[in-house]
Amino acid sequence: MAEAQLPRRVDAVKLVDNNQQLNAAIDSSKLTRLGETAVRCDAPVHCEINFSRDRENNRLLSGSCHTQVVMICQRCLGEVSLPVESSFELGLVFNDDQARQLPKRLEPVELDEHGILDLWTAMEDEVLLALPSYPVHTQGECELKQPEPAPEITESDEKRPNPFDVLAKLKQ
Ligand SMILES: [Zn+2]
Repeated sequence: MAEAQLPRRVDAVKLVDNNQQLNAAIDSSKLTRLGETAVRCDAPVHCEINFSRDRENNRLLSGSCHTQVVMICQRCLGEVSLPVESSFELGLVFNDDQARQLPKRLEPVELDEHGILDLWTAMEDEVLLALPSYPVHTQGECELKQPEPAPEITESDEKRPNPFDVLAKLKQ
Protein backbone atom coordinates (compact mmCIF):
# COMPACT_ATOMS: atom_id res chain seq x y z
CA MET A 1 0.00 0.00 0.00
CA ALA A 2 1.43 3.37 -0.98
CA GLU A 3 2.03 5.77 1.85
CA ALA A 4 -0.25 8.81 1.95
CA GLN A 5 1.19 12.01 0.52
CA LEU A 6 1.67 14.76 3.09
CA PRO A 7 -0.35 17.84 2.08
CA ARG A 8 1.80 20.85 1.34
CA ARG A 9 -0.32 23.72 2.66
CA VAL A 10 -2.51 23.10 5.69
CA ASP A 11 -4.83 25.14 7.89
CA ALA A 12 -2.66 24.88 11.01
CA VAL A 13 -5.12 26.67 13.31
CA LYS A 14 -7.85 24.19 12.48
CA LEU A 15 -5.51 21.20 12.79
CA VAL A 16 -4.41 22.43 16.24
CA ASP A 17 -8.04 22.81 17.32
CA ASN A 18 -8.67 19.22 16.18
CA ASN A 19 -5.48 17.83 17.78
CA GLN A 20 -4.80 16.38 14.35
CA GLN A 21 -2.17 13.72 13.73
CA LEU A 22 -0.67 13.16 10.29
CA ASN A 23 1.34 10.13 9.20
CA ALA A 24 2.41 10.67 5.63
CA ALA A 25 5.38 11.16 3.34
CA ILE A 26 6.76 13.85 1.07
CA ASP A 27 8.18 12.91 -2.33
CA SER A 28 11.74 14.08 -1.71
CA SER A 29 12.31 14.95 -5.39
CA LYS A 30 9.97 17.91 -4.75
CA LEU A 31 12.25 19.31 -2.03
CA THR A 32 14.67 21.40 -4.08
CA ARG A 33 16.84 22.72 -1.25
CA LEU A 34 17.45 19.16 -0.04
CA GLY A 35 18.28 18.13 -3.63
CA GLU A 36 20.86 20.93 -3.81
CA THR A 37 22.47 20.13 -0.46
CA ALA A 38 22.70 16.35 -0.76
CA VAL A 39 23.77 14.43 -3.87
CA ARG A 40 20.28 12.97 -3.92
CA CYS A 41 17.61 11.71 -1.62
CA ASP A 42 16.70 8.08 -2.31
CA ALA A 43 13.64 7.80 -0.08
CA PRO A 44 10.54 9.82 0.67
CA VAL A 45 10.62 11.95 3.81
CA HIS A 46 8.39 10.01 6.22
CA CYS A 47 6.66 12.26 8.73
CA GLU A 48 4.73 11.75 11.95
CA ILE A 49 3.25 15.06 12.94
CA ASN A 50 1.04 16.11 15.86
CA PHE A 51 -0.81 19.41 16.07
CA SER A 52 -1.69 20.37 19.65
CA ARG A 53 -1.48 23.03 22.35
CA ASP A 54 0.89 22.97 25.28
CA ARG A 55 -0.04 23.95 28.88
CA GLU A 56 0.70 27.60 28.16
CA ASN A 57 -1.70 27.40 25.23
CA ASN A 58 1.01 27.72 22.56
CA ARG A 59 0.18 26.06 19.27
CA LEU A 60 2.57 23.17 18.76
CA LEU A 61 3.82 21.21 15.79
CA SER A 62 5.69 18.21 17.16
CA GLY A 63 6.79 14.82 15.92
CA SER A 64 9.56 13.28 13.87
CA CYS A 65 10.64 12.71 10.31
CA HIS A 66 13.18 10.44 8.68
CA THR A 67 14.62 9.69 5.25
CA GLN A 68 17.74 8.38 3.51
CA VAL A 69 20.12 10.77 1.73
CA VAL A 70 23.21 10.29 -0.42
CA MET A 71 26.08 12.63 0.42
CA ILE A 72 29.82 12.82 -0.40
CA CYS A 73 32.08 11.03 2.06
CA GLN A 74 34.58 13.59 3.34
CA ARG A 75 37.27 10.93 3.69
CA CYS A 76 37.22 9.13 0.28
CA LEU A 77 34.99 11.52 -1.73
CA GLY A 78 32.77 8.61 -2.76
CA GLU A 79 29.01 8.54 -2.28
CA VAL A 80 27.69 7.50 1.09
CA SER A 81 24.05 6.74 1.84
CA LEU A 82 23.03 7.93 5.30
CA PRO A 83 19.84 7.70 7.34
CA VAL A 84 18.65 11.10 8.56
CA GLU A 85 16.26 11.46 11.46
CA SER A 86 14.85 14.45 13.26
CA SER A 87 12.52 15.01 16.20
CA PHE A 88 11.03 18.43 16.59
CA GLU A 89 8.83 20.58 18.79
CA LEU A 90 7.95 23.82 17.05
CA GLY A 91 5.80 26.75 18.11
CA LEU A 92 3.33 28.01 15.50
CA VAL A 93 3.14 31.81 15.48
CA PHE A 94 1.66 34.59 13.37
CA ASN A 95 4.41 37.17 13.81
CA ASP A 96 7.78 38.03 15.39
CA ASP A 97 6.13 39.30 18.59
CA GLN A 98 4.55 35.92 19.22
CA ALA A 99 7.82 34.20 18.28
CA ARG A 100 9.66 36.18 20.98
CA GLN A 101 7.11 35.16 23.60
CA LEU A 102 7.58 31.45 23.00
CA PRO A 103 9.46 29.49 25.64
CA LYS A 104 13.10 28.86 24.63
CA ARG A 105 12.56 25.16 23.96
CA LEU A 106 10.23 25.94 21.05
CA GLU A 107 11.59 26.94 17.66
CA PRO A 108 9.13 29.35 16.02
CA VAL A 109 7.51 28.58 12.66
CA GLU A 110 5.52 31.36 11.09
CA LEU A 111 2.04 30.92 9.64
CA ASP A 112 0.60 33.27 7.05
CA GLU A 113 -2.17 35.69 8.09
CA HIS A 114 -4.81 33.02 7.41
CA GLY A 115 -3.10 30.46 9.64
CA ILE A 116 -1.81 28.46 6.68
CA LEU A 117 1.42 26.51 7.16
CA ASP A 118 3.73 25.24 4.43
CA LEU A 119 4.35 21.79 5.90
CA TRP A 120 6.82 20.71 3.20
CA THR A 121 9.08 23.68 3.90
CA ALA A 122 8.88 23.09 7.67
CA MET A 123 9.78 19.39 7.26
CA GLU A 124 12.52 20.14 4.72
CA ASP A 125 14.04 22.58 7.25
CA GLU A 126 14.08 19.78 9.84
CA VAL A 127 15.82 17.35 7.48
CA LEU A 128 18.39 19.99 6.43
CA LEU A 129 19.18 20.76 10.07
CA ALA A 130 19.65 17.06 10.77
CA LEU A 131 22.13 16.44 7.92
CA PRO A 132 25.60 15.55 9.22
CA SER A 133 28.09 18.41 8.76
CA TYR A 134 30.90 15.88 8.18
CA PRO A 135 29.42 12.87 6.34
CA VAL A 136 31.71 9.81 6.23
CA HIS A 137 31.38 6.08 5.58
CA THR A 138 31.60 3.73 8.52
CA GLN A 139 35.18 2.47 8.85
CA GLY A 140 34.74 -0.85 6.99
CA GLU A 141 32.84 0.73 4.09
CA CYS A 142 35.16 3.62 3.29
CA GLU A 143 37.32 3.14 0.19
CA LEU A 144 40.13 5.19 1.60
CA LYS A 145 42.30 3.29 4.07
CA GLN A 146 43.36 5.25 7.11
CA PRO A 147 46.89 6.56 6.44
CA GLU A 148 49.73 5.06 8.52
CA PRO A 149 50.53 7.42 11.35
CA ALA A 150 53.74 9.36 10.55
CA PRO A 151 56.78 8.52 12.71
CA GLU A 152 56.98 11.02 15.52
CA ILE A 153 59.98 13.23 14.98
CA THR A 154 59.39 16.67 16.35
CA GLU A 155 61.40 19.72 15.56
CA SER A 156 62.60 20.15 19.13
CA ASP A 157 64.12 16.63 19.05
CA GLU A 158 66.17 17.49 15.96
CA LYS A 159 67.47 20.86 17.05
CA ARG A 160 68.05 20.37 20.72
CA PRO A 161 71.82 20.55 21.30
CA ASN A 162 73.45 17.39 22.57
CA PRO A 163 74.87 18.16 26.04
CA PHE A 164 77.99 16.04 25.26
CA ASP A 165 78.75 18.21 22.22
CA VAL A 166 78.62 21.29 24.43
CA LEU A 167 81.03 19.66 26.90
CA ALA A 168 83.38 18.68 24.08
CA LYS A 169 83.56 22.29 22.90
CA LEU A 170 84.33 23.55 26.40
CA LYS A 171 87.23 21.10 26.71
CA GLN A 172 88.88 22.26 23.52
ZN1 LIG B 1 34.41 7.03 2.42
